[in-house]
Amino acid sequence: MHAVIYERNEVENGTLLLKVFTQFGKIKKLKIPGILKSKTRNAYFLAPATLWEFTISGNEREVVTPKEYTLIHSPYSFESSYKELASIGEVLKPMNYLKPDLEIIPLFNDLSKILYNWKCGDKLKEITLSNQFYLKFLFRMGLLNFSLQCVHCGKILSDQARYHLFSGSICNDCIKEQIYRENEFIPNLWINNGINEISNNGIFTEENEMDYRKRIIHYLKSSI
Ligand SMILES: [Zn+2]
Repeated sequence: MHAVIYERNEVENGTLLLKVFTQFGKIKKLKIPGILKSKTRNAYFLAPATLWEFTISGNEREVVTPKEYTLIHSPYSFESSYKELASIGEVLKPMNYLKPDLEIIPLFNDLSKILYNWKCGDKLKEITLSNQFYLKFLFRMGLLNFSLQCVHCGKILSDQARYHLFSGSICNDCIKEQIYRENEFIPNLWINNGINEISNNGIFTEENEMDYRKRIIHYLKSSI
């Protein structure tokens, strides 16, 4: 099974807990017991944003211990630094919005492509790739089909509108009235940066925003 690590946690007894996103478009939790105390095994390369081949059995369990694991690709430079980890961490942020029951196979290819193209230290390229990935993520989640009206009251949305992961576009008034979890809102910056990334001039007005989004969706469908 090919998978990208997107979260790494160290727990008791030198055990490493990994959250990975698999080639089957699903989240999986992996456990590697005792590796942090081991003298023969090295946990250093089991870092977020690396791509691996994991051999596992007992696929149905919630947390699985891989029998074997082989590194396929690492986007880090030879002497990786905290700075590199932090900037790659930005790309991986959308992965925290995924729920265990989702299955989005194309997102695995999107993420892999971004990580293969990643060049540590090239800030401009890093920002471009992050924005591209945010946009692809929103597209794969079906969130770029949002309307310009509030899903609750139908009001035309203003700059204050926000995009809820499960409900869609919500106006400022309805946000106050309904109970939503803050972590279920997509950062507006992802949408705006993503849209700007593929625009010609980075500016769009309210009148043509719908056309603009249609063009973006068309672009995404043809370019992915
Ligand atoms: Zn509303």
